Amino acid sequence: MRYVSTRGGMPPRAFLEILLEGLAPDGGLAVPQSCPRFDRQALDRLRGLDYRALAFEVISPFVDDIPHGELRGMIDRTYTAAAFGSGDITPLSSLEAVEPGLRLLELSNGPTLAFKDVAMQWLGHLFEYALARRGETLNILGATSGDTGSAAEYAMRGKHGIRVFMLSPHGGMSPFQTAQMFSLTDPNIHNIAIRGVFDDCQDIVKAVGTDLAFKARWRIGTVNSINWARLLAQVVYYFKGYFAATRGNDEPVSFAVPSGNFGNIYAGHVARRMGLPIRRLMLATNENDVLDEFFRTGRYRPRGSAETRRTSSPSMDISKASNFERYVFDIAGADGARVAALWREVEAGRAFDLAGSPEFARVPDTGFVSGASSHADRLRTIREVHAATGRIVDTHTADGIKVARERREPGETVICLETAQPAKFEDTIVEALGLRPPRPQGFESIEQAPRRFEVMDADASAVKRYIETHAS
Ligand SMILES: *Cc1c(COP(=O)(O)O)cnc(C)c1O
Repeated sequence: MRYVSTRGGMPPRAFLEILLEGLAPDGGLAVPQSCPRFDRQALDRLRGLDYRALAFEVISPFVDDIPHGELRGMIDRTYTAAAFGSGDITPLSSLEAVEPGLRLLELSNGPTLAFKDVAMQWLGHLFEYALARRGETLNILGATSGDTGSAAEYAMRGKHGIRVFMLSPHGGMSPFQTAQMFSLTDPNIHNIAIRGVFDDCQDIVKAVGTDLAFKARWRIGTVNSINWARLLAQVVYYFKGYFAATRGNDEPVSFAVPSGNFGNIYAGHVARRMGLPIRRLMLATNENDVLDEFFRTGRYRPRGSAETRRTSSPSMDISKASNFERYVFDIAGADGARVAALWREVEAGRAFDLAGSPEFARVPDTGFVSGASSHADRLRTIREVHAATGRIVDTHTADGIKVARERREPGETVICLETAQPAKFEDTIVEALGLRPPRPQGFESIEQAPRRFEVMDADASAVKRYIETHAS
């Protein structure tokens, strides 16, 4: 398996060669040159496998430069009952009491209570392996407003050859998220609270990343959502959810996916291309509806950060969906020149419109439909699910359930992806239900744990100096 760039300007590369890179050298994203496909017989064989064996079968066709025994070992060390609460890793529950045909795939039972753990935990093992093999070290620099930073830190803590420098807006995360990150005391984890907002943190990461000499000298890397290995790990739970919800491999099933950077739902698109009988992929946005607008109209209009609204499903408050370029590459028939031309518009701050184009005409074949939800929708969904089932869902998951119910056709089975636990977004749950969601074991008094973090001004050179003195 070799990987090329969505913009057509990268010679084919192997998996480990793209693993630690951010963007491809031409500014595009790495995509596999072909998509492995499971036929009916292969699906029948996969159906009986446990999570780890299934993960190996789904991931290994994309990775041919790691010996299979080593790959299997890394997967086995990642997907343990100790890390994910049960050997099922991503258990399926029923939402039939809310509406017949609805299911919930629990993706948030990992160490930081959000679905990002499923991919990030495996990235920790993978990075450690790749660095040891090359005799290299890596300093990961990132910016976070919550979920990504803690998932990355919990995945990389204690890993050999890896240091993490995570910038977050000082006082800008929820109290739970702050406690979760800052209570990590592993010596290879550095929390830096920036006096500023999330965009200031992001700007510093960009400024450091464009200082190529610094970046090379200190081996700066990232773990952002465009990382191909992260997407690959997410493909697995679509298979797991499908097998759990069906009795045979001719039953079509749909998925509803709360979306921001388009990583999670793109993994569903890959699963569908691999032959999993997915009927439809229902994309849900919150008030930041740039993706819903595209699927309704064909127009992709990324917003500036000033136009991005702060909502009660904050992990979906994005206005430029970084993985969306991979999907457009697919509907453009793998035409890198076409994608490059479209993203020249995006990078100049403009929109592009595919209405009436051959590309947009292919969207129905990919099974995508979309919807958006508001704060009021979110509160109502949380209340209705709680009243019908006694279960509390988080705000992002509620956005997905709302769209699933809106788009579901009679007889259609829809698996809603649970992307976080409600304990992470207490305030909105209290607003909806008048009660505090119970905390999972081990998180009861996380606010009281000792904290380790630095407070710094929004100044890239100060951050660079800090990295120079603490880098691996
Ligand atoms: C990151 C995140 C999302 C959005 O997922 P994408 O892969 O960026 O589309 C949704 N919900 C939660 C809780 C998240 O942390």
